[in-house]
Amino acid sequence: MSVNKNKPLEAVLLNPDARLRKLADSAELTTLSLQVSIHRYYQGVLDLYKLAVSYLDDRLIERCFVLMYRYCWFCITELPKHPDDAEHESTEKTQARELLNNAVPLTSELERQILIVYEAQAVYYRFAESQRVLLLEDPQAWRLQQETANKRYEELYKEAEEVTVRAGMEMGRVRPLQPEFVDFGPNERPLPQVPTEVTPSKLLLTTREDEPGPSNRHVSSPAVAPGSSGSAFKPIRPAADSQPDESSANSSLSDEAVPEKNYAIPCDLVEKFLKCCAENTKNNIQTCGVLAGRKLRDRYIITHVLVPKQSGTADYCVGQGEEEVSCILDNASLLTLGWIQTNPKSKAHMSPMDFHTQHAYQKIMKESVAVICAPAHDEVTAFTMTPRGMEVLSECKLTGNHPHPETYGELYTTAPHVVWSTDFNSYILDIRD
Ligand SMILES: [Zn+2]
Repeated sequence: MSVNKNKPLEAVLLNPDARLRKLADSAELTTLSLQVSIHRYYQGVLDLYKLAVSYLDDRLIERCFVLMYRYCWFCITELPKHPDDAEHESTEKTQARELLNNAVPLTSELERQILIVYEAQAVYYRFAESQRVLLLEDPQAWRLQQETANKRYEELYKEAEEVTVRAGMEMGRVRPLQPEFVDFGPNERPLPQVPTEVTPSKLLLTTREDEPGPSNRHVSSPAVAPGSSGSAFKPIRPAADSQPDESSANSSLSDEAVPEKNYAIPCDLVEKFLKCCAENTKNNIQTCGVLAGRKLRDRYIITHVLVPKQSGTADYCVGQGEEEVSCILDNASLLTLGWIQTNPKSKAHMSPMDFHTQHAYQKIMKESVAVICAPAHDEVTAFTMTPRGMEVLSECKLTGNHPHPETYGELYTTAPHVVWSTDFNSYILDIRD
């Protein structure tokens, strides 16, 4: 029996968030090559999507997550960088954009399930680590509690295994019901049928990890069996007769910078919203709407504008039926991520009352933005309160129209984290009478 053979457990296994981050990072290892035509790329991302779906059929949820995440990441972040993308039109491109509405919520649900699995596994791994440390520090005490410890190992392993299997089942059950978008209104288009038998595109499945060289990064490649959830989970015992999990031995915690541009709004959203409130705008009445969407890892993606029942004037607009709005958004698993409003005659700016609205949104979610459309001046801006603005507004107890001492640049500013994307579509849900 040799204690030295037992390496410490990789920190990433003990930290579910870091483990998930590492998995997602592996999805971003492929980058855009300008040598490849944009059309080929769209064919490639569709293959990627199909392969991800086939992994889900096999309940290999980690593999599915990596490919589905890569699909979203490519469609939203990488393909728009291609110089030919703006001009390119093809069936594949249209299909890829439509599928994005399916892929984003699916990826986000996969992420949630995998985190549950990783958390259950981390409990087991933490126990294994505590046993390893005990063996090193006090071998006698370690031996004395071996029987109890073994029992605990069995229990924790069983629990983690059950959670892992359940997550796979859960995803297998959820997928055929998706997406909620389909029944969501006249603006929605049905999703194309996805064949399950596909030939994966080497183009997007080849990551930099496949290339030889010292710059290789470790990507977790779980040992999986059909029918399992695809989450690698092997018993680890700190006894000399059982070896540490080699598959995790090379893992390390990766430092990840918080992305600056983590809030994407589709460009067609403003046009659709303005069309929807044209009548009000003509009559010099403001219209407001709720920006709703999904969280995909650490990025927010606006997919819908919900236009509630409301009353407005030339410089004022207030939404009604808060419960109805919440209910609709909940049913569609959409998050409230900000708001949008027209200023029919004036320029794109925020009034003191808008400050208070935005302050309330931003208090709940700091990424929330206010999109102000000024059709008469052909201006659209996504605004955010500055830290100073949040401070001032927290202290302001006034209601109705009232001035604030500071203005643009001090209390509020153009939201630096917003990206306007031409790569996916938005939908308007107009529930006014
Ligand atoms: Zn105030």
